[in-house]
Amino acid sequence: MLEDIRILIEVQEVDRQIHKIEKDKERLPRLVAIAGEDLRSAEAITADARAAAESANKSKRDAEMELSTETDRLGKLKDRSSEIKNNKEYFAHLKEIEECQKKITRLEESSLELMERVEKADADLKEKADAFAAETAKFEENKARIEEKFVSGDVQLRELTARRAEIVASVSKEILDYYNYLLKMFPDSAVAEAANGSCTGCRMIIPPQAFNNVRKGEALVKCHNCRRILYFKES
Ligand SMILES: [Zn+2]
Repeated sequence: MLEDIRILIEVQEVDRQIHKIEKDKERLPRLVAIAGEDLRSAEAITADARAAAESANKSKRDAEMELSTETDRLGKLKDRSSEIKNNKEYFAHLKEIEECQKKITRLEESSLELMERVEKADADLKEKADAFAAETAKFEENKARIEEKFVSGDVQLRELTARRAEIVASVSKEILDYYNYLLKMFPDSAVAEAANGSCTGCRMIIPPQAFNNVRKGEALVKCHNCRRILYFKES
């Protein structure tokens, strides 16, 4: 095998790692965004639950206030009983008291219902807020892990790039240029093994003469189909 090609196989191993890390790094912002979507949805659900709880509490306060107003009114009506002068006034007064009492009964009933509604809404809000807090913690943890991966990817990339520069220094410029050109199309398989008479890059059969040349390893042989650099692995 040509020394240049032996080195290129080594370079390709480094390039594969570089390519993988770069791909992973590209995916990372998207992963953070996906993690954020769950968080935003939990936040929206909590906001709805909070609005429902606030509305239930307000209805309850309103009913309590109305009940207190009506109770005051009933007290005042009863105080006025002594001021009544005739039968007509007396019956009108009784009717007013009766209506006020009915209203108080209705308000007391609805207050009970509203108390139940508030209890349920408050419990629901607590549940949703807890879920949101858990989702927030999960998101922060995920984000930290993803960012850490990003940073460690950068460190690895720097190391691999330095190693690559060291290895390629001894490859002839012409072959290296061609390899770099192929990399754009085949980021992790610019150099392909010729095995069982075929190019392992594109699976096409290599003409016998070309296959013999690859096997001899005296010159650079390109796949006639995909143009990858071919090599033969002695078993
Ligand atoms: Zn090929």
